[in-house]
Amino acid sequence: MLAKRVNRIGLSTTLRISAAAKALRADGVDVVDLSIGEPDFPTPELIKQAAKQALDRNQTGYTQSEGTPELRRAIQGKLLRDNGLRYELDEVLVSPGAKFSLYLATVALLEKGEDVIIPAPYWVSYPEQVRLAGANPVYVPTREEDGFRLTARRLKQVLTFNTKMVVLNYPCNPTGATYTREQLAELAEVCQREGLWILADEIYEKLTYDGHQHVSIAAISPEVKKRTIVVNGLSKAYAMTGWRIGYAAGPREVIAAMAKVQSHSTSNPTSIAQAAAVAALEGPQGEVARMAGEFVRRRNYLVYKLRAIDGVSCDEPRGAFYLFPNVSNFYDRAFEGSPVRNSYGLAYYLLKHAHVAVVPGDAFGGPDHIRLSYATSMDRIELGMQRIAEALARLERPRVARRVDLDNVVTKVDEMAETEVTRSADAMGRLVADADRTILERDYFEWNASIGGVVVQLRTNSPHLYRFFQENWYPAQLESDLEPHGVIYGVKGLAGRQPGAIFNPQSRTGFVVNTAFYPQLRALCLGLVTDVIEPLSGVHVVRAAAVDVGGRGLLLMGAPGSGLSGQLFGLLRREGVRLVSTDVVFVRYVGGDALADLVERKLLLKTKWVDKDERLASLFDRSPLENAVTWAHSNERCDGGEDCPVTRGMGACYRASNASRALLDPYWLGGAKRHAKRTPVRAVAIFRREPLGKAVHPLPVGEAVSMLEHATMPGPVGGTRTVPWLNEYLLDTSNDRLQAQRRLFERLLGAARPYAINTASVGKDALTDELLGLL
Ligand code: PMP
Repeated sequence: MLAKRVNRIGLSTTLRISAAAKALRADGVDVVDLSIGEPDFPTPELIKQAAKQALDRNQTGYTQSEGTPELRRAIQGKLLRDNGLRYELDEVLVSPGAKFSLYLATVALLEKGEDVIIPAPYWVSYPEQVRLAGANPVYVPTREEDGFRLTARRLKQVLTFNTKMVVLNYPCNPTGATYTREQLAELAEVCQREGLWILADEIYEKLTYDGHQHVSIAAISPEVKKRTIVVNGLSKAYAMTGWRIGYAAGPREVIAAMAKVQSHSTSNPTSIAQAAAVAALEGPQGEVARMAGEFVRRRNYLVYKLRAIDGVSCDEPRGAFYLFPNVSNFYDRAFEGSPVRNSYGLAYYLLKHAHVAVVPGDAFGGPDHIRLSYATSMDRIELGMQRIAEALARLERPRVARRVDLDNVVTKVDEMAETEVTRSADAMGRLVADADRTILERDYFEWNASIGGVVVQLRTNSPHLYRFFQENWYPAQLESDLEPHGVIYGVKGLAGRQPGAIFNPQSRTGFVVNTAFYPQLRALCLGLVTDVIEPLSGVHVVRAAAVDVGGRGLLLMGAPGSGLSGQLFGLLRREGVRLVSTDVVFVRYVGGDALADLVERKLLLKTKWVDKDERLASLFDRSPLENAVTWAHSNERCDGGEDCPVTRGMGACYRASNASRALLDPYWLGGAKRHAKRTPVRAVAIFRREPLGKAVHPLPVGEAVSMLEHATMPGPVGGTRTVPWLNEYLLDTSNDRLQAQRRLFERLLGAARPYAINTASVGKDALTDELLGLL
């Protein structure tokens, strides 16, 4: 129902924590709130007076969409006075809040698919605004030991042809990081050389300490000014968050484009607030200095107290009103047996058990930290710090280490690429040489798997591929002088290649290149084994799910979308139904029987299947996971909410990502009562979805064979593609090999009766009954 652009963005974690704090407060708990992002002072008197006067003058109508000339002149004056920046009136735009100025800049400048560099930790709205504009946030981690500053060197390393813009926020929310003129000049030089736009968020400009002089990057040179949008506002410096006045200054065309969008979205900022803003900028600035003086006193106290806690480290920033201490030492500790695990867990613990609200660093892309705001009174800060120190001291290292065996590696590539089959010996030779060199450079892992008796050797530099491969297959008892039947290289870091897979049938060598997505490796591996095993021992590799009911087997075959997996889970809920495989079986023909085997040690399941069967939840909790969500706000499939397990401190959530997989031990389903390794196949159900026709009808063997031979599946970009035998794992689709498949299927369907199953014509449960009736 909702537009894709909205689904691309996440809920604000900051808001979620404050909602939890509010709920506690409603229950009468005295919560010390160190999560807030606004000054705790009231707006200075003179500014309020100006607003009242504007009201009395009936200055209550629309104003120019881009802001009143008086306010823009006041901003012009401020930029010249404080920052040495000379802008014309039409190079200044007033907006309802700096947040909206930032949004307008992204909308005006970014094209779909372009990259925007965001130094991490970052303020939460940058990535979401960039995504809303259809562009991609590219995070560049900064280091605590560099005062969380982006360096020119680091910036150079991450640029690509696709980079359009860099967002710089200084002083920074959440780290307080500031930059000197020299540091800004170095960054500006890179941006200029590479033709990048700079979005400079200087909203905390006035809150700098220890004699730090704020410099605007636009003031580095006229050339830099031409590619910079300076954003600032009155919220923080003048304690005016509720008034909603922010502004942007930059090249005329950009400001005009931003103004155009504003004129069609919010019209103008509030007239009264604009009048007050003139008074703020042009009036005496004593209040600003007084507030800054109070902030620095609180910062000093907090830094001192935090550094005194064993296990906490804290940088002393020279701006904004936040501290970003590193608390990762506490992530392996527990309270009453519940481990903390990450920044969400720690924030949650501090809220529940110390009654102090802080923001988890994960929300800002700084998972080792929490953010404390000192925009609250000294009394409250003292109380909050005392509670934090006591609560952290109460955390214990669990006596019995509770090993949570999660391998929730987030793979950079999480989609399957089609496996390319090549017969060129030259190309293969080069690949092998490149792969050997790349793999041996760093980590090198090797493992021999026995897959239905075929030995496949994995050579890889990806610990993740290695781990999953090793879990998934039984080890081969390989004598040192025995050659594997096939070799697969899993190579990361092979220069100049797209993620993908390549296979050479002659040498039985495969490559999984520049991706650690395990299904890609598994598919190639099954393809290789199919190629070897059928000619070698007549074993038939069938892409099908299989269940056993009282010693009689049913194979379920069908394309994605045919309703097959719904029925599979329907069957598994019934007493006496045992799962053999969800995906592939090796069929041996013995006498007149077709015996289907599971040859994998583990089942690779999409974790979103917990929606189909809740019982999987506790099993996935103990399974190795891939692409599980470890940040509450990176969910694809749910909106987090209060119950979000990641917010509550779980290491990972496997429900929230479409790309998430688990390697499940099938015995965990309920031992031998729920799982069988082999079944004699009695019936083959071929699933389709047709509006008309009976739910189940027997097929003549010839018709069933022809149906499977010409089967189609939904194509990657819409439409359909032919997938012979519904088997995407088949790599060698030469005539000979397809003919061999045909003979094997004739044999299978001679031994087990084929049925067409139409999932569109009858209710789910009734169909499950009919399927069981086939055996
Ligand atoms: N930028 C940063 C870095 C901020 O922290 C905030 C407020 N939290 C804003 C912009 C937004 O300010 P405004 O109230 O002017 O929208």
